[in-house]
Amino acid sequence: MTDISTSDVTGERNPVAEPGPRTAADAVTPALVARLVRGVTAGEQPTLGISRNPFTGEVLAEIPESTVEDVATAFIRARTAQRAWAQRPLGDRARVLLRFHDLLLANQAELLDLIQAETGKARTHAFEEVSVTAVEARHYARAGAGYLRPRRRGGVIPALTQVTEVRQAKGVIGQISPWNYPLALFAGDALPAFMAGNGVVTKPDTQTTLTALRTRELLVEAGLPAELWQIVVGDGPVIGPEVVDRADYVSFTGSTRTGRDVAQRAAARLVGASMELGGKNAMLVLADADLDKAAEGAVRACFSSAGQLCVSIERLFVAREVADDFLARFTARTRALRLGNTLGWGADMGSLVSKRQLDNVLRHVEEAVGNGARVLAGGRARPDVGPLFYEPTILEGVDAASAVCAEETFGPVVSVYRFDGEEEAVAQANSTPYGLNASVWSRDPGHGRRIALRLHAGTVNVNEAYASAYGSVAAPMGGMGDSGVGRRHGSEGILKYTEAQTVAVQRLLPMGPAFGMDDQGYARLMTRALGAMKALRLK
Ligand code: NAD
Repeated sequence: MTDISTSDVTGERNPVAEPGPRTAADAVTPALVARLVRGVTAGEQPTLGISRNPFTGEVLAEIPESTVEDVATAFIRARTAQRAWAQRPLGDRARVLLRFHDLLLANQAELLDLIQAETGKARTHAFEEVSVTAVEARHYARAGAGYLRPRRRGGVIPALTQVTEVRQAKGVIGQISPWNYPLALFAGDALPAFMAGNGVVTKPDTQTTLTALRTRELLVEAGLPAELWQIVVGDGPVIGPEVVDRADYVSFTGSTRTGRDVAQRAAARLVGASMELGGKNAMLVLADADLDKAAEGAVRACFSSAGQLCVSIERLFVAREVADDFLARFTARTRALRLGNTLGWGADMGSLVSKRQLDNVLRHVEEAVGNGARVLAGGRARPDVGPLFYEPTILEGVDAASAVCAEETFGPVVSVYRFDGEEEAVAQANSTPYGLNASVWSRDPGHGRRIALRLHAGTVNVNEAYASAYGSVAAPMGGMGDSGVGRRHGSEGILKYTEAQTVAVQRLLPMGPAFGMDDQGYARLMTRALGAMKALRLK
């Protein structure tokens, strides 16, 4: 196999950003770790999990792990707190979310440090987490009561049957979240659950527990009862199923492989679940696109959080007539991206999070190059910057047998394909079992929208990469096909945490024969009434 992990493939190396003012060790002090880990539901002398700073590979923190019994305790505590919380007026709950919004912005520097230290992402990508979480807090605080309010529905007998649909909290939500967006996914999926009156038990990834714990502290400072949000930590296959087995609803974000197991387990218990899973997202640069804007957008689309973003673009389809011009712009921008390995602003891309991620990226690129793909930018690890750095990489000429063609890489690697007509582009974009996010570039927004409607993806951004759809939290976000079941954001993102209950009050006449009428007479009366209701165009 070709060794391209350290060789100089394109002849140019991505520059390294000026070091930020602080390192992970400056920000994540032993005192901070000692305070935060008290927020884990764990026994007196727990076993310890380890998180490492991806920039250096050094141990960042030892995290107490929960036992199976601790998970049971977490659910008991959350359940007790939930009963009182569900009685609190919606206005009270909304105020907690709005105070959290302000605390999030006020404490952002500390959160950005923690996110960078735990994930190795650039600060600008960590900031996306702060901003979208603030948007989610504001949205569910302001719109939550509207989503949840009781609704009058037409009764079976107009005027005589008065029907109200109400929304009851599910109880305690079991949330399992990944390491890649430890603030945004962790808080973003829990906030609507709280607004709807639930408790939550969350299992974050051990690697990013500190960000989760600090976020929870802020929500408690904002007024959330501390017992309502329990954090359990541990090995996914050990602790994860324990969470699923006790939850009244499961909110899972992670890989499609794990998601299938979790969904089956939840289904066996007859509890609902939302599954936010992987993708192999496509971007289409149409012949009428503004190529400078498209190239700029492609950089954001492919390399934000070093491509460790569920909605990241990994397949780029470009109209043949503009492909050379577009690629000249895109590769120049990509080669100029500055890699950064310290805390602070100024870097364009950070590190991968773990050796597992790096190995996957190496495997995908090596195999594609071995099968004949050309490297237009990047294509190598950068151990001189940090043990897990990999350059933003553009491949062309990837064949269908290479894993990078249709499997999720979850790293800073995009494959470019030229297309001859939009039919072909749409067919290729829709050719994987996934369906999470897509991006379409055209100078004509109407044209972009028409193409968007033909794409098999839960979100489609026209003239933007992913943030327009993801950040518009009043509208649903989630995956089709192997990318998931259910949605976050919008009405679906909060109503999934509720049980619909129908309360029907019958007035004056019963739903059966009355005043000495026999069954046949009642059937005749009802037949006339049904005909009249249709004629009156009642729904
Ligand atoms: P993963 O599936 O390995 O792990 C996700 C979480 O599940 C972790 O907390 C893990 O500990 C836990 N887990 C592992 N095995 C489990 C089991 N048997 N039962 C219950 N829980 C278990 O995923 P990952 O590598 O941490 O995250 C990356 C994946 O997540 C990518 O595929 C990415 O596309 C996806 N993702 C999707 C979205 C989305 O919104 N669709 C968002 C972020 C990430």
